Amino acid sequence: MAHAVKELYPGTKLAIGPSIADGFYYDLDSDHTISEEDLPKIEKKMKEIIKSKRPFVRKELTKDEAVRMFQDMGETYKVELINELDDGTVSVYEEGDFVDLCRGPHLEKTSMVKAFKLLSVAGAYWRGDEKNKMLQRIYGTAFPTREELQKHLDFLEEVKKRDHRRLGKELDLFSLTDDIGAGLVLWHPRGASIRRVIESFWLDEHQKAGYQILYTPHMAKLDLWQKTGHLDFYRDNMYSPMEIDEMEYEIKPMNCPFHVSVFKSQLRSYRDLPLRYAELGTVYRYERSGVLHGLLRVRGFTQDDAHIFCREDQIDDEVLKVLDFTLFVLKTFGFDDYNIYLSTRPDKYVGTEGAWDKATNALEKALKHKELSYEVDPGEGVFYGPKIDIKVTDSLGRQWQCSTIQVDFNIPERLDINYRDSDSRDSRPIMIHRALMGSLERFFGVLIEHYAGAFPLWLAPVQVSVLTIAERHAEFARTVADRLIQEGIRADIDTDNEKIGKKIRRATLSKTPYMCIIGDKEMEKNAVTIRMRSGDSAGEKNIDELVDFLRDEISKRRQI
Ligand code: ZN
Repeated sequence: MAHAVKELYPGTKLAIGPSIADGFYYDLDSDHTISEEDLPKIEKKMKEIIKSKRPFVRKELTKDEAVRMFQDMGETYKVELINELDDGTVSVYEEGDFVDLCRGPHLEKTSMVKAFKLLSVAGAYWRGDEKNKMLQRIYGTAFPTREELQKHLDFLEEVKKRDHRRLGKELDLFSLTDDIGAGLVLWHPRGASIRRVIESFWLDEHQKAGYQILYTPHMAKLDLWQKTGHLDFYRDNMYSPMEIDEMEYEIKPMNCPFHVSVFKSQLRSYRDLPLRYAELGTVYRYERSGVLHGLLRVRGFTQDDAHIFCREDQIDDEVLKVLDFTLFVLKTFGFDDYNIYLSTRPDKYVGTEGAWDKATNALEKALKHKELSYEVDPGEGVFYGPKIDIKVTDSLGRQWQCSTIQVDFNIPERLDINYRDSDSRDSRPIMIHRALMGSLERFFGVLIEHYAGAFPLWLAPVQVSVLTIAERHAEFARTVADRLIQEGIRADIDTDNEKIGKKIRRATLSKTPYMCIIGDKEMEKNAVTIRMRSGDSAGEKNIDELVDFLRDEISKRRQI
């Protein structure tokens, strides 16, 4: 591709062109603005190069030779890269009159490229730094066969269709606007309705699992963040402090210190533990504008956060409970498949080796007890403790990081939290941070794509649309809708003076799970005809049957 671009647009300089998951890209510096319309032209040139069946020849040069060669070619980005290499020799690959810096290995000849496609064009700063020049990036992909390429292109098409930013707009779920600011989410009524269902499910289940619910402020004195150590290791992700009454305050990037303050508000005895505090806590973190992405990466978000304070002898049991709880919650949202990672002690850490071993063992024991397969990431734990991360697999087979369970030896020490043990001595509790969904914003984005916007009945913003065939059915339809609403079912009504086919289409486009159609026949029998959004019929039911049926389906939280 780089060869083709250089032939088509002479003077183009090459920057970095790596392979990535499912494809490759190349960052280019060209006077010609490459647009998507140019891609077929570049593909055509690539096909010519492939047809030439020229070999790729490897050559090894000293660093000086390589620098001189790329300097003569005007490839200033390559010169910069070579100068930073540690090795004394560098390898280049030649194909015809084209040469590029490459570590290899490489295909033997151009004709071995069987099926490829250029996908898109984007802007990218040299080395990802917004202070550097903006380059042009071309994305592409290649496969050994046409069939495999087509399969991948179909997958990409499906990904595009499910893009939560697109569905969020089409289904009127949420928005992000320049008026409000980058990475700050507005939840529209239909999105907020789904969030409320998720939140109330979350709150109910936490209460059942022995958690106590907290609410804490959105900011706190700068002092607090000094004590926790956030100012030392997290400042880049925090916003500038503001002054109130000649005192500096900071908007919160985390909820942890607030929960610790609640713990410390009373003298705690060993009999009080474990204490489990949970909060849907909204936090604000600075993310570079380049990495913001719809709901998946934002600047203000609500964590489904909890902190468990327990004794050392309770840690096994608590970790097991959290793990069970996590898997139950993920399953409720249709995630049965996940990858689990256990991160162990890094080189730099706080706490004793013994405590790390104990906590790591507890995490590992819980995973083994549940017969879950997991990968160990040696040394990838946070400096304050080991952790389990869970990535769910969505309906397209993509992985998303959601849940995390982290043991913390740092905060209990720094904030000096104690309980009175059975010998009336002060003892440090173990602290576990955990989030099941991660953040509501991100989890919602993942759910939208996972369900392709067709939320299961229990989550759907509108669960039932009551549709009339003619105007004379409007009054009866209204009594049906009112009854459903009284029963706690989210129903709306469409009595517009339009053909029933159009109303069905409208409800189908909003992905409403059930439509209740009302005509003369139904009115006579005090019944409705039920149609599912798939287009299938669910038969005729009288109003009481309809209510029972829907309430039963909702309470089961079925995945359809
Ligand atoms: Zn925390």
